[in-house]
Amino acid sequence: MGVNQATLVLIKPDGLKKSLTGNILTRLSETKLEIVAAKIVRVSRELAVEHYVHLQGQLFFEELIRYIIGELHDRKKVLAMVYWGEDAIEKVRKLSGATNPEEADPVSIRGAYGRITTKGIYENVIHASSNENEARREIQLWFYPDEIIVELYPTREAVEREVQKRMWVK
Ligand code: UDP
Ligand code: MG
Repeated sequence: MGVNQATLVLIKPDGLKKSLTGNILTRLSETKLEIVAAKIVRVSRELAVEHYVHLQGQLFFEELIRYIIGELHDRKKVLAMVYWGEDAIEKVRKLSGATNPEEADPVSIRGAYGRITTKGIYENVIHASSNENEARREIQLWFYPDEIIVELYPTREAVEREVQKRMWVK
């Protein structure tokens, strides 16, 4: 028996544009893992840069940021989810396939649906955390504690004052 883990999964803008959401969720359901958080996110530049901070300095960094924000596709959004269960990180990474879609197992999600752009970016339709530290960092970057239906990491109570928020007109 492996340990229960949480992992961040993103369906990237190319995955959404290619109408792959259903296929990808079906593939991920083979793992028998549980979805414990999900939302559609309009990715800000700050979020994009923070998410890919480990790749800052790479020649393709700026194009990668444009890719995850959705500037290379018509859809400026990603579907962000947290999957939870036994060996979640490895199971989702395995189904996703290698980073380079041309090297990925052809039956993996990236192998089946990914492509390399003329600018050399791997448009590989899905993101999946690659280890527990990364999963924790990424989940805490993309989600607030109350957006996740299980307790994953320690939380603290804080009163937010003078935060401007849009509300529904009543
Ligand atoms: N990427 C790319 N070219 C590279 C390496 C990475 O276009 O040579 C992109 C690709 O979309 C990848 C993302 O940057 O999914 C993050 O890279 P990482 O090395 O973390 O790969 P991953 O964990 O996504 O497999
Ligand atoms: Mg990575």
